[in-house]
Amino acid sequence: MSDRIENVGLQGMICGLDSKPRKFSTCLECKHRVCRDYFVRAFAENVFPVNEGEYHVTEGVGPPAITKFRRENPYYLPQEALVDMALGTAFHQWVELANTTPRDEPVGRTSHEVHRTYQLGPYKLVGTMDICDFEAKEIVDIKVCGAYRTKQLLSKATKGEEDEYFHQVNVYRAAFMPDARKLGLDVFLKDFSGFAQRTYKLKDRIYPINVQIYDAGQELEMVFDNIEQSLLDEPRNCTPEETWNGMRCKKFCPNYLCMCYQGPSYNPTDVT
Ligand code: SF4
Ligand code: SF4
Repeated sequence: MSDRIENVGLQGMICGLDSKPRKFSTCLECKHRVCRDYFVRAFAENVFPVNEGEYHVTEGVGPPAITKFRRENPYYLPQEALVDMALGTAFHQWVELANTTPRDEPVGRTSHEVHRTYQLGPYKLVGTMDICDFEAKEIVDIKVCGAYRTKQLLSKATKGEEDEYFHQVNVYRAAFMPDARKLGLDVFLKDFSGFAQRTYKLKDRIYPINVQIYDAGQELEMVFDNIEQSLLDEPRNCTPEETWNGMRCKKFCPNYLCMCYQGPSYNPTDVT
């Protein structure tokens, strides 16, 4: 069992009333009730653990600058980002209900939410494959995405371009299921508004995407390099690709120490 690193990772919210960071424990005492207490409690009681030497596949395929920040700092996100996270988590838990087999011992043709670990040099790589078809040898990852990201994934798959999410399922294959011969994403569009439909020309709610298979050895090397980068004092800059051409910096990145951060800025010393 790896040692847990305390007081890092998501610790609370950036308050919608004054844009200051609040610990979940403070929010639970809040009189304004802008954020419902069960919503706050669900986050407060299920803080994603950060363990020494243990990396999730999503960290291994993500920008090292974000991985470093998340693992070394407490951070706070605005309410809308937490709602997005809750939607994604709820969706995955709902899918898990369809599974009748124990989580770690898949039997039969298809299993959902299959946890696996892989020793990558000194690092323990952990991951959860959303859907595994052991007969068809297929891995599918479920994504609940906004219109911009959905359109981007569809476009990249059509053009044969790479993406972090495509690498994620490829790393699942490389580390956890080397005989997999089919990879995919099931993208569920969460903002099916008229605006999203008109702007991004998205007419469906669900988009199954076939993911190209990459070289397994190179995938594991990439993960190893990203982890090592995240341990440097100054990891490499995010590429435009990794910042989703700036969209990630503006809306989704918690790394307020990054020079390019453009999201809702706050002063960590203001935390209450
Ligand atoms: S619950 Fe927290 S984030 Fe929401 S209004 Fe109160 S202090 Fe602000
Ligand atoms: S703000 Fe942008 S460039 Fe900076 S770490 Fe986040 S995603 Fe990378």
